[in-house]
Amino acid sequence: MKAYDGMYIDGAWRPAAGDERIEVVNPADEQVIATVPAGTAQDVDEAVRAARAAFPGWAATAPAERAARIAALRDALAARREEIAGTVSAELGAPPAFSRAVHADLPVAVAGSYAELLGSHEFEEKIGNSTVFHEPVGVVGAITPWNYPLHQIVAKAAPAFAAGCTVVLKPAEDTPLVARLFAEAVHEAGFPAGVFNLVTGRGPVAGQALAGHEGVDLVSFTGSTAVGRQIAATAGAAVKRVALELGGKSANVILPGADLAKAVNVGIANVFSNAGQTCSAWTRMLVHTEQYDEAVALAATAAAKYVPGGDRLGPVVSARQRDRVRGYIRRGIEEGARLVAGGPDAPEGRSTGYYIRPTVFADVTPGMTIAQEEIFGPVICVIRYEDEADALRIANGTVYGLAGAVWAADEATATAFARRMDTGQVDINGGRFNPLAPFGGYKDSGIGRELGAHGLTEYLHTKSLQF
Ligand code: NAD
Repeated sequence: MKAYDGMYIDGAWRPAAGDERIEVVNPADEQVIATVPAGTAQDVDEAVRAARAAFPGWAATAPAERAARIAALRDALAARREEIAGTVSAELGAPPAFSRAVHADLPVAVAGSYAELLGSHEFEEKIGNSTVFHEPVGVVGAITPWNYPLHQIVAKAAPAFAAGCTVVLKPAEDTPLVARLFAEAVHEAGFPAGVFNLVTGRGPVAGQALAGHEGVDLVSFTGSTAVGRQIAATAGAAVKRVALELGGKSANVILPGADLAKAVNVGIANVFSNAGQTCSAWTRMLVHTEQYDEAVALAATAAAKYVPGGDRLGPVVSARQRDRVRGYIRRGIEEGARLVAGGPDAPEGRSTGYYIRPTVFADVTPGMTIAQEEIFGPVICVIRYEDEADALRIANGTVYGLAGAVWAADEATATAFARRMDTGQVDINGGRFNPLAPFGGYKDSGIGRELGAHGLTEYLHTKSLQF
């Protein structure tokens, strides 16, 4: 077990103000692997002051200089691939191959995309007799979750740096170690002191202090809708900007004429990777009544390939999440859904570790709790629809609208359906992930967009000069 010291503030590791510590637990074996300091309002205040002091200088740098630092950050992250993947596997429980390919490589791609984008992004435009300048909003308070611990940090920090903003990060309590590696990479990349600051700590203490700090100009939060609402209320009262990436309950709509086996297999992989802890996961599979039984059988077969503790399915992050997910599985059974794979008990041979049996529910009706609330575990609901209008009603029938998928015989049919979905991102017939495409929610899934040029815009003000 390693006891890590310090907060990364103003370009150096400084002792924390208080003595309290957070234990980091490996969810695969429930052992404490490290402790980090639990930050207080005082640590947050020092970090915000450092970020404020660094802001004017960083905001005034040429885009090419910021691009060079972000490119160096990308390279520093890429050079730590094994360390990052190993750390995420240890604190989140992700299988090693997934940790490398997604938890380590995706943030490198996102950082790289901002280094490149700065080569062409226009921070000035002419509108009639006006010149409009796009200027950085100031100090960003970033509060991130544990599910994609490094990606969530980079998806906020990279566009903030690109815009000319400075950052104070409060990462999730469950996964603070990869955040420390990120701070080391920032340091190595040669960012000026104070441009990036890290305060590890608990949400209601350090997180709340950051969200409410008067020196913060924009709060960018990813996590639960409940905490997002609180943060939005605090930010609203202080008239400061807020960006929220919240939960989801996305629909995977399989229209008649689609490649059913592919749609089901990709859909299962989408939900069960990262042990179901993905906000954009397609947790509701919508299938036409005539193909329903076949789809359920295919889903059960596909789910059987996910063995808890095997190379595809790790544990969920914590005992709390394990209990929460199992609670939802019990609730599904109570409400009359038919269990075709998995269940609420510990997987065979896995009494230690926060493992969940990969679970497929059939005969789920759209109003059931498991079809409405975000479960955040390897659990999928297969829902029957009668016709396209019914499918659309069900797809749009939750408070969320983050992502989704549509499969059809042709792209035109799928696109027409996707255009009527109240959601921020839809994959058409298995479309590939695009790190430059905006990502974010309709309805209760959030406010604002991350990634690409749209993600950069979140961190910019406009100023118009009339001539
Ligand atoms: P959470 O919202 O409590 O935590 C997210 C971040 O917010 C963490 O850094 C946490 O420390 C911080 N936080 C918590 N309370 C705060 C407060 N009062 N003020 C400021 N910051 C605060 O999420 P969780 O409890 O870890 O997970 C619960 C559920 O949230 C999950 O089951 C899942 O449904 C959802 N979730 C969604 C995402 C996503 O990507 N949208 C990520 C993680 C969790």
